[in-house]
Amino acid sequence: MRIILLGPPGAGKGTQSKFIQEMYHIPQISTGDILRENVKKNTDLGKKAREYMDKGELVPDKVIIELVKTRLQQDDCLKGYILDGFPRTLAQAEGLEKALGNENVDRVLFVNVSDSVIIDRLTLRRIDRETGAIYHLKNNPPPEGVRVIHRDDDKEETVKNRLRVYREQTEPLVKFYKDKNILYEINGEKSVQEINSLIKDILNRGKET
Ligand code: AMP
Repeated sequence: MRIILLGPPGAGKGTQSKFIQEMYHIPQISTGDILRENVKKNTDLGKKAREYMDKGELVPDKVIIELVKTRLQQDDCLKGYILDGFPRTLAQAEGLEKALGNENVDRVLFVNVSDSVIIDRLTLRRIDRETGAIYHLKNNPPPEGVRVIHRDDDKEETVKNRLRVYREQTEPLVKFYKDKNILYEINGEKSVQEINSLIKDILNRGKET
């Protein structure tokens, strides 16, 4: 099953991807994670991507499409995958279609959340630097002794820019996939468990058709 998780930053795409990954045994492909890994290792890609990421801007389409195309050719993608944070522009969605050839994306899960909830979630989000586990200072504080980081791009000004970029460049994809009849909208403000269960229904329904 090929799945796209679409939605604003902070919608819970990462959390839900991990849940789907465990349930269906297909890999999560997060372009944000791949880019951050490259920034950490200071690769050529990392150096190029960093200037955009720090400002909350999108890394150029050409770079991202190449990165995803290469990743999709790996053996673990044969049974399907979850795209988390890609595509983010119409050009990327078209690039993906071209890369897939005769194959199709099966389901696009659109996790929708209001701006005020996103700002609260991201500015208070903290990440375990060892395991990548995600915490929230108010709702799910990290256990004592766990060393967490505040992602640079989760600072308030950058979050606001990421949201603006999302509305302008990524939101048009909702219509793009709705027109193809593969879009399922989910209220991302429900509890993690409720969203898990909605996603399970949508994906199982997908299997029967
Ligand atoms: P994320 O972790 O998905 O929020 O991504 C963090 C940052 O990585 C974004 O703000 C962008 O700068 C960059 N990024 C991740 N995925 C993409 C993409 N598909 N296209 C362009 N830039 C991306």
